[in-house]
Amino acid sequence: MQSIIPDYLTEVLEAVHPDTSGELAAYIPELAAADPDRLGAAFAMVDGEVYGSGDIDTEFTIQSISKPFVYALALADRGFDPVIAKVGVEPSGEAFNEISLESDTGRPRNPMINAGAITVHSLAGAEGLNATERVERVVDGLSAFAGRRLRTDEAVYASEMRHAHRNLAIAHMLRSHDILVEDARAVVDGYTRQCSVLVSTRDLAMMAATLANRGTNPLSGEQVVPEPVVRQVLSVMFSCGMYDAAGDWGTQVGIPAKSGVAGGLIGALPGQIGIATFSPRLDSHGNSVRGVSLFERFSSDMGLHVMEVPATARAALRTNHVLGSGPDALRVLQLQGGIGFAGAERVIREAVNTSYPETRVALDLTRVHSIDDVARRMLLEIARRLTLDGHEVHLVDPESIMPDPDPGDGGRVTVVDSLDEASGSRTPPTPAARRRSGSASPARPA
Ligand code: GLN
Repeated sequence: MQSIIPDYLTEVLEAVHPDTSGELAAYIPELAAADPDRLGAAFAMVDGEVYGSGDIDTEFTIQSISKPFVYALALADRGFDPVIAKVGVEPSGEAFNEISLESDTGRPRNPMINAGAITVHSLAGAEGLNATERVERVVDGLSAFAGRRLRTDEAVYASEMRHAHRNLAIAHMLRSHDILVEDARAVVDGYTRQCSVLVSTRDLAMMAATLANRGTNPLSGEQVVPEPVVRQVLSVMFSCGMYDAAGDWGTQVGIPAKSGVAGGLIGALPGQIGIATFSPRLDSHGNSVRGVSLFERFSSDMGLHVMEVPATARAALRTNHVLGSGPDALRVLQLQGGIGFAGAERVIREAVNTSYPETRVALDLTRVHSIDDVARRMLLEIARRLTLDGHEVHLVDPESIMPDPDPGDGGRVTVVDSLDEASGSRTPPTPAARRRSGSASPARPA
């Protein structure tokens, strides 16, 4: 049987295909010579599965889509403070190549506009690299995001460099404010090489999936940048990635994204998917016309808006019931799904607001598939308080969702594999269960 996703992609590409509005980026002559009819879209899942339709293996230059990735490299290489000292994180509401800086500090407003990206290029790699070594670091880093060796397009690089007056003006202005501390032309040269790295739509989807996958490339398994860096980069992509169209994009599409003037467009949905499209004709903001339409469709067809409210919290507590009667009665709080802060809060509220006459309480995690760190700590703390209130607490956890549970001072939980095991008479737990049972205080005598 064939997967439905490539068929869906083909259908969506056909729907946007007739739209030939927009213009090629004429200010870079080599880009103006591109085939305007190319069209492709690819999805890369965070486990490395790729779906695509159209021209997904045609190479084109990455252009501004390099900006978030090189920002990530600079943050990883230099740390947050030195980078943030030189480049802000506020949306500028201006065009990507606007010649403007923050009036008081001289900092570029964000790393997604050219002023910011030129500065960020100068911060990639360890301090003290020369211009060539820095370009090597950047190409290596972009390659690690893609999971394969990338190279630059010398013709596009040379073509852009011959007409780089605007970026040179920006760089000289940055140099005059000491935001750049090196030769302005050399930095623009390096930045222009960075923009001329060749990628396919498939590569871009994988690079976006690496961001969606907390910085680990799904194919190579390499952790390219640390998790806090990914959060910073996705946040800036969300607010600034689409330049002066960022507000429209944020509300209508709602996926952290970045566009490039060669016609590429990426989106990264945390934990789910990296998306890339390619269609060279651009709108007045410099964003791909058909790329924007494709993303609008993807977002609404598949509910990919990051502000889409998840259903998980309310459903975290499946039931609250009692098994058996008399002294052996067991109060069962049955949890389900993925448990985060709000889910754990719901369970805790239930435990706090109901007074349980039963001595024995079970937190049943059989239907829980994941639990994050804060929820784990909250549930262990409530287990501890239940123990201190005189309850005997069982954790039904056949899949070891909460390995080595330690409720801390005075708390005690007994881990069992099934509710039957917990609700059975007060037989001592099996040796395996006893090994897994966490206890911070000596076990009470049976
Ligand atoms: N290299 C291009 C420039 O600096 C990148 C612009 C873009 O893709 N938006 O003008």
